[in-house]
This record gives sequence, C-alpha cells and structure tokens, in this order.
Amino acid sequence: MPWRVSPRDRRSGVLTDPYRVWLSEVMLQQTTVAVVKDYFIKFIALWPTVHDLATAEDDAVMAAWAGLGYYARARNLLKCARMVSGELNGVFPQTEKELLKLPGIGPYTAAAVVSIAFDVQATVLDGNIERVMSRVHAVMEPLPASKEILRGLAAALTPVKRAGDYAQAVMDLGATVCTPRSPNCEICPWQGGCAAHAQGIAAELPKKIRKAKIPTRVGVVYLAKNETQVLLERRPDKGLLGGMLGWPGGAWAVDQVSHTPPINADWVTLNTSVRHTFTHFHLELTVMIASDVTGIPQTGKFHDIATFRPDDLPTVMRKVWDIANRTPKDDT
Ligand code: SF4
Repeated sequence: MPWRVSPRDRRSGVLTDPYRVWLSEVMLQQTTVAVVKDYFIKFIALWPTVHDLATAEDDAVMAAWAGLGYYARARNLLKCARMVSGELNGVFPQTEKELLKLPGIGPYTAAAVVSIAFDVQATVLDGNIERVMSRVHAVMEPLPASKEILRGLAAALTPVKRAGDYAQAVMDLGATVCTPRSPNCEICPWQGGCAAHAQGIAAELPKKIRKAKIPTRVGVVYLAKNETQVLLERRPDKGLLGGMLGWPGGAWAVDQVSHTPPINADWVTLNTSVRHTFTHFHLELTVMIASDVTGIPQTGKFHDIATFRPDDLPTVMRKVWDIANRTPKDDT
C-alpha cells in the first residue's frame, strides 16, 4: 500500500510519516483500500507535506477529492491540515487525546495514527479488526451492540512492542484472509486459537442486526450548456456533497417537490433518470437538459467548458454528465 513504509525500512526501525498515516486513514474512513490507493498517490503528488496541503486552494482539494464521497471528510482534512501546519508547526500530536481535538479525527483515526506513526500501544478497531476479533473469540452478540466487547478483546491482544505493526497486520488479516463471506482459515496464522474456526461458524460471524430498508428520495438537476460553457453550482458547505460543484437543482425529498430552473431555456427531460445510493437513502434524479443556453442564471455560475473536468464532480453529478452525454449508440 502506497502509505506504508517498505518492510526493509520498517525492519530498520523507520515509521510511517504521520502525515501519510493521517491522510490515508481519513481517506479509508468508509472507503475501500482499492479505491483509496489512487487518491492517496494523487494527493501526495500534489501536496507532499501537511504544509503544502494547508496552503492549497479549497476548490483544488475538493476537486481532487471528487468521487471519494463523504465530502465532509475533505473539508475537515483541510481544516485539520491548517491547524497542524499553523498552530502545531506541522507536527502531528502523539497522543490520542490531543489528536481527538483536531477536525475530522475520531477515536479510530486517532488510535491508528498514534499506533502506526508513533508505535504507541492503542486499540485500533476498524471493521476488519472487529470481524477478526468476533471470530477468534466466537462473539455471538450481534453488532453494533458487541462493539465494546470487541474493543476490550482487541485491547487485550494489542502488544506494547510494535503496536503499529500489529494493528496493520490484523487489519490486513481481516482484509485478505479473514474476509467477510469466505474466510480462508487454512492459511490463517491464528487458526489454532480461533474459536469460530473450531466451532465451524467462522463465516456466520460477526452477527449483525439487520438494517432497516433505506428510503428513496427524488430530485431534479438542470444541465445547461452552450458551445463554450456549462452551468454549475457550488453546494452549501454544510450537508450532503457540501462544498462540491454540481448541477443546479431542487431539493431532494421523498415526494417530488416544486423547483425552478436556474435559467430560462428550452428544457428537455432526459428519458433516463440517474440513480445513486448514499448511506441513508437511494436518490433518483430527473435530468433536464438545455443546449445553446444564453443569459444570466438565477442560480449557479457558468464555467468554461474547456477547463471543465467531469472527474472533479462528486460521483452522482458525474453520472448526470455521463448519461446526458451518452450517444444513442451507447444505449444499444
Ligand atoms: Fe478468521 Fe479463520 Fe483465521 Fe479464525 S481461523 S481468524 S475465522 S481466517
């Protein structure tokens, strides 16, 4: 993984730069390693140090984050970088207590940073480690009620020496061997002491309380363009997709709400809607398109189409662009 030091360096006592640990752990909140890798490489190339990130333009960081989702993380990332760079002279705190005072750092991230970057004994408990703990100890209590039990079990196993290596090893075990559906117990180094394996119930754990079905909300987006420009709107800082660029549109609600187009034009409704799933709801967007648009918009701002990069939009907004620009051939 691009944020880790090489095994050879690690054997020589080198620890991972706290900036890289923090950046990777913030990105990994709610996002898989496979997705995070490229974003991490891009961020490190653009902003190699916390000082570089702290002085970056908000828009540039939000654009680089586009597609990773959970955009509050990007806003907190910037706030945190600016605090570390400005108030702490670029030095990340070495205790969980001090790290928890920084924006966007919760108990998991604080524990991961002190453990991996400073080799401090801390209880790191992500989804992978929860799964491994629940299996090794055959915890029958379902999640999320069992979280504290699992935390206690994880704490009891965390060693004083090489706490960071241990945490990463258990994370990796969960990600690659003790996987959710088909744990590969035959190659697992913990097989001998694993209660779930002994009882033949590994794949059934951890037990989880079934989640309630999530609702569907609907909304409308307006994609207005002409030969040289596209009309975009920056979303308010607070709320879903906060601070990100997107297509103007009405509120998203369970029932269709009335809305006003952002500019007078000959609007055409696309016959395909855009579907996207957020954590708490599905979204179905009706897409309105207008070409050769001129005039002054009531909401949003025209952007030069030559410098417009759809990849800088959050995923749902990029889907709108992709569907709107699909040629008829793409539908066959
Ligand atoms: Fe997971 Fe199987 Fe290893 Fe137990 S033996 S920790 S269930 S992979």
